[in-house]
Amino acid sequence: MKYNTQVIDNSKRSIAKAADLLTNGEVVGIPTETVYGLAGNAFDENAVSKIFIAKGRPSDNPLIVHISSIDMLDGLVENVPELAKKCAEEFWPGPLTMVLKKTDRIPDITSGGLDTVGIRMPSHKTARAIIDKCKLPLAAPSANLSGSPSPTTAQHVLNDMDGRIPCIVDGGYSPVGVESTVIAFEENAIKLLRPGFISVDDLKTITDNVLVDKGVLTMLKNDAVVASPGMKYKHYSPSADVVLIDSDCDSFKEYVANHSDKDTWCMVFSDSDLDGVDIPCISYGTTDTEQAHQLFDVLRKLDDVGAKKVYARCPSKTGVGLAVYNRMLRASGFQVIKL
Ligand code: AMP
Ligand code: MG
Repeated sequence: MKYNTQVIDNSKRSIAKAADLLTNGEVVGIPTETVYGLAGNAFDENAVSKIFIAKGRPSDNPLIVHISSIDMLDGLVENVPELAKKCAEEFWPGPLTMVLKKTDRIPDITSGGLDTVGIRMPSHKTARAIIDKCKLPLAAPSANLSGSPSPTTAQHVLNDMDGRIPCIVDGGYSPVGVESTVIAFEENAIKLLRPGFISVDDLKTITDNVLVDKGVLTMLKNDAVVASPGMKYKHYSPSADVVLIDSDCDSFKEYVANHSDKDTWCMVFSDSDLDGVDIPCISYGTTDTEQAHQLFDVLRKLDDVGAKKVYARCPSKTGVGLAVYNRMLRASGFQVIKL
């Protein structure tokens, strides 16, 4: 244990402390509206390398750089295409990351060796106050150990990062619950690289020309050269073997009744999904926004209760549901049973 990790509140004094650590090249767990981030100075190779070490993250998986004002884009990216300007106007501050051509000021370690960088302007008050205070763009991947479910509370961050970082700022439960939507721009199209709270339909208010990268719904090989590197790794996984069941409620019930043993748990929309069947379950919500909000907390709880096998009801694949489905596919290692 290298650090005696402190969890601090999000008072003005704590924000000043976090900013001070960041200015001095340290890594701090910070709340955002999507999930908690593991932040460091995006310009500082040494600080960014500490993020990769704390997470155990593969070095070809780029980090998202967080800013608190449009002015901060100057010096980070070469140019901002018209479509990107429109997206920023519509969705920033908020859970949208735009991949743009980077300047030399962004070190290769931050961009995972790519000549582009993902930029986001979060809406979370505490995240913005920390960026404003240290006046630095912050590289911040999700604050979990690489491969684990993303953290949506300071306690989740502490569970993964205790002893690995000096400080975590507690800003309560992350309201969105899944990571940002990631997009890139191709001629006159928006390409969705990772679905999030900003949905395909939201993006279509900017242009009809929205393409969905094949990595969103299909398994990519680990050695593949891909548009969105993070999407190729097994991810978000509890230790249990998760299987997604794509079916209506009755067929789900019948399937799990016939395939469960003593260490099986179910992940359902609401407890009533399993009426009449005696298998322990945790519910993650009946609407896509509720499911996004609770998904990672429920995946972590399944570890806490010692589930070995989990049958999960499949979310809808539209709206925010596409983001939930995308994370569940990776949590399950793409094990889907369609009934
Ligand atoms: P996170 O896991 O929340 O740190 O988000 C980082 C993810 O955003 C990466 O794993 C990629 O999928 C995506 N991303 C970030 N920067 C880029 C980039 N320059 N090009 C493509 N995808 C990116
Ligand atoms: Mg992550």
